[in-house]
Amino acid sequence: MVGCQCLERWVETEYGCLYCVEVKESKMKTIGLIGGMSWESSVEYYRIINQLVREKMGGLHSAKSVMVSVDFGPVEALMQSGGWDGVLAELIQAARQVQAGGADFLLIATNTMHKMYAEVADAIEIPMIHIADAAGVKIKEAGLSRVGLLGTAFTMAEDFYTGRLAEQFGLDVLVPDEAGQAEVNRIIFEELVVGKILPESKTKYLEVIGGLVARGAQGVILGCTEIPLLVKAEDASVPLFDTTFIHAEAAVEEAGR
Ligand code: GLU
Repeated sequence: MVGCQCLERWVETEYGCLYCVEVKESKMKTIGLIGGMSWESSVEYYRIINQLVREKMGGLHSAKSVMVSVDFGPVEALMQSGGWDGVLAELIQAARQVQAGGADFLLIATNTMHKMYAEVADAIEIPMIHIADAAGVKIKEAGLSRVGLLGTAFTMAEDFYTGRLAEQFGLDVLVPDEAGQAEVNRIIFEELVVGKILPESKTKYLEVIGGLVARGAQGVILGCTEIPLLVKAEDASVPLFDTTFIHAEAAVEEAGR
């Protein structure tokens, strides 16, 4: 009974004891996601979550998940015109659909929409994993206290993200100067969310990261779920915290808990 944990029934299969496999599988929670903001990064969530479950459980295992993917066109137009009530209504509708689909907990697969985290959490019964909390845990584990943040203009300039990292994790969060923020934001909305990955934009991002490091950042949060499509860990001299991977990994951990 090598590798058998149940010690009750041993039905040998290619993947080990069938009973153990069944037990592991039935215990796995269903991961809920609101995607589509943009789908370029939702694809990454889906890939990472399934890869991590396969690494963890082996064989043909894959994640149980429910994703409701919104149409980013009208959502983005509402964001840019300050129509946040309309965005919130869309998020709440999607969250309830995910819940009705059988998810045990929910992820909003974008940093920016965590601006309305509390309101979405109040509208559903299932728990949520906050993307900044998942990042904060990793930053603390790495022993860092001052980090830079790249994201949309909303994420960098408003308090909902930096404030949470300061309050919950005691982190000092640096954001780029005004010109840097404008350029980082422009590249997200004009390029990354429509799948354009340009070398000159990568150079620009690395310059901005260099500026944050020169101001004392010990690491940098890639606080927009499309940025990891452009900038990779090996591109920088300090640790980069890829929020897409970190959030997806936190979901897999929760699913197995
Ligand atoms: N996916 C992005 C983020 O993580 C930006 C797009 C959006 O505003 O949702 O913030």
